[in-house]
Amino acid sequence: MAYDDIMSFNAVVNTWYQSKVTERNFVGQLLRKLRRFYLGTFKPETIQKSIAETRQGDCHRCGLCCELIYKCPFLGKDHQNLPYCRVYGDLRPANCKNYPFDVTDSEIDQCGYSFKDQSLNQSTL
Ligand code: SF4
Repeated sequence: MAYDDIMSFNAVVNTWYQSKVTERNFVGQLLRKLRRFYLGTFKPETIQKSIAETRQGDCHRCGLCCELIYKCPFLGKDHQNLPYCRVYGDLRPANCKNYPFDVTDSEIDQCGYSFKDQSLNQSTL
């Protein structure tokens, strides 16, 4: 396969990805979850920079991010019926700790977090 063919294929895949990653459907949710996992695992500095420089607000414990694609088995309810994480702390996966880290990642309208500048520091991935 020629180099140009590979680059052309890569461009098609990237165009498809960019059009799908912001969609509010199952494919978009899956791509965002994979994106957060990839960046959290291999480029954690990108995520931490985005959170430090662009994220504002607070988590108000709606628990909705714990039910993206599937309901997390570690999601519990306290005596006030508020959601809580049964493995909060060192065992909590990075994917959960990092939600939402930028505008693309943020998909829950009721979330207490928002972002200062939607173009600033947003990962190109
Ligand atoms: S969706 Fe936002 S406000 Fe709700 S639990 Fe997740 S991080 Fe917190």
